Amino acid sequence: MNLTHTCSECGQPNTVELVDGADRVVCPHCDHTVEIPPGAFSSGAVHRCLVCPSTDLYVRKDFPQQLGVAIVVVGFAVSCVTWYFYLTAATFSVLFATALIDVVLYLFVGNALMCYRCGATYRDVEGLDEHGGFDLETHERYRQESARLAETAAAGKG
Ligand SMILES: [Zn+2]
Ligand SMILES: [Zn+2]
Repeated sequence: MNLTHTCSECGQPNTVELVDGADRVVCPHCDHTVEIPPGAFSSGAVHRCLVCPSTDLYVRKDFPQQLGVAIVVVGFAVSCVTWYFYLTAATFSVLFATALIDVVLYLFVGNALMCYRCGATYRDVEGLDEHGGFDLETHERYRQESARLAETAAAGKG
């Protein structure tokens, strides 16, 4: 299993490889150590977030969004050229191929597990079935909670 998260101490994005029985996540930049809560990670399955107190995780397609956008942009650019030269059939096949590549990519990419609270991403995780897909209500709850925390922190300073 590998985990991509932003270190709470130094703010650097990290990707760390975790094997079964791992009990801590160490930041390679600043050596900040996060203890993995007991039972949170077992037999390759993640039951709650390992790097923040959140217990809510959701499953999403691990689709490289930038790549998807890049393919659409390239397809559109090529179709503009063929359109300019009155190659109607070519234009439509280019657009069709672009859409098809995106669909095929989408079907073949794996699933990743995400934390609502801190945005940590878990890949190569077992037992994804225990987690649901993205839920807007849960997302809102965490968003409002972090907004409240920021407010409290700001008020504490003043
Ligand atoms: Zn760090
Ligand atoms: Zn988290």
